[in-house]
Amino acid sequence: MSRSEELFERAKKVLPGGVNSPVRAFRAVGGSPRFVVKGLGSHILDEDGLEYIDYIGSWGPMVLGHSHPDILKAVYDRMVNGLSFGAPTALEIEMAEKMISMVPNIEMVRMVNSGTEAVMSALRLARGATGRDKIIKFEGCYHGHSDSMLVGAGSGALTQGEPDSKGVTKGAAQDTLMAQYNDLASVERLLDANLGQVAAVIVEPVAANMGVVPPKNGFLQGLRDLCDKHGALLIFDEVITGFRLAAGGAQEYFGVRADLVTFGKIIGGGMPVGAYAGSRALMEQVAPCGPVYQAGTLSGNPVAMAAGLAQLQILTDHPEVYTVMETSAQYIANHLRASAEKHGVKMQVNQVGSLLCPYFTDTPVDCFAAAKTSDTKKYAKYFNEMLLRGVYLAPSQFEAMFVSSAHTQKDLAFTVQAADESLAAL
Ligand SMILES: *Cc1c(COP(=O)(O)O)cnc(C)c1O
Repeated sequence: MSRSEELFERAKKVLPGGVNSPVRAFRAVGGSPRFVVKGLGSHILDEDGLEYIDYIGSWGPMVLGHSHPDILKAVYDRMVNGLSFGAPTALEIEMAEKMISMVPNIEMVRMVNSGTEAVMSALRLARGATGRDKIIKFEGCYHGHSDSMLVGAGSGALTQGEPDSKGVTKGAAQDTLMAQYNDLASVERLLDANLGQVAAVIVEPVAANMGVVPPKNGFLQGLRDLCDKHGALLIFDEVITGFRLAAGGAQEYFGVRADLVTFGKIIGGGMPVGAYAGSRALMEQVAPCGPVYQAGTLSGNPVAMAAGLAQLQILTDHPEVYTVMETSAQYIANHLRASAEKHGVKMQVNQVGSLLCPYFTDTPVDCFAAAKTSDTKKYAKYFNEMLLRGVYLAPSQFEAMFVSSAHTQKDLAFTVQAADESLAAL
């Protein structure tokens, strides 16, 4: 038994499924999760001394790779002065000012501790500000695990959603309406059927929790127009895309304005941070300025702020990282397509910026239904072949491959060679 396997057996006795977040458990791909000892740049090392090129990057936060010296130094320098006060610190202002300087159309920020919290709070604000109850979300988009977002399309999808998890009440689900990604008509139907009742449309500007699904030309602008027509707010959930697609996130990358934006992952530099942001008029609805209550004991935690701020500073000091990452992701995508063709494997590779995903299907993937046509058994095999060769991919078809600025030419060449061999072995 490997050390990771031993640890997993032990973990299963005290942690549900042996993990603290479900996808880590490798259930979709089989085998035993690797227990990580450390990470440096694009590489991670597991308990058995095996080294991998990491394309998860903590599911997005490690956009500059692991253990970036500037970020570690910022954390050390800050932590020696105390870990948390529950009182304001200057760092929180610096963080908000930094975000506002980077991201278009935001004037004020509220820090929280996770993406889930950011979305949950932004939805409350949207409801509070509009006086409306209903929210439109898209099938296959993930917005964290708050009750109203764990909803699937029910039979009465035109009017209300169905709980997608045990423990979510019908009451929490009934105000969530489900539309189809990249299908403006599906949004318009919901808005028309629920006139004057929709507080917000929430969307991942690039859907990155059903693999990677880019928005079609005009889709995001179409949402903007529909929201304006119906007096609903447009929320970009940029927990993945924020500071990743561009310094200003998807609003900058696609040139479409959102009313509220949620952040997580990259914003903490590897520490647990989330945030939501918008215009002054909207954000001043939040307590203690306004009637929408939201709070947090550890929100704006100084050590977490130090890590996040250091990461954002590096991203602004080195804007070239965005082209570097995009070029790297394109390189992998092109080689995957060529290898798939060479070995007769049916594959679609979607790529936007530093995000990409190979689907084992003939069907172009532009929505959740299309993503589900992928042969997930093939993905599982591919995943395990890659792992054997030292490339650590997401243990599920329906997750992105995250390229960081730390991936070197050598890493990329190694990766596409491993992929070529893995696809040949399918
Ligand atoms: C990860 C994610 C979340 C949830 O963030 P957590 O920090 O895991 O709570 C929300 N929205 C999107 C788009 C995400 O990718």
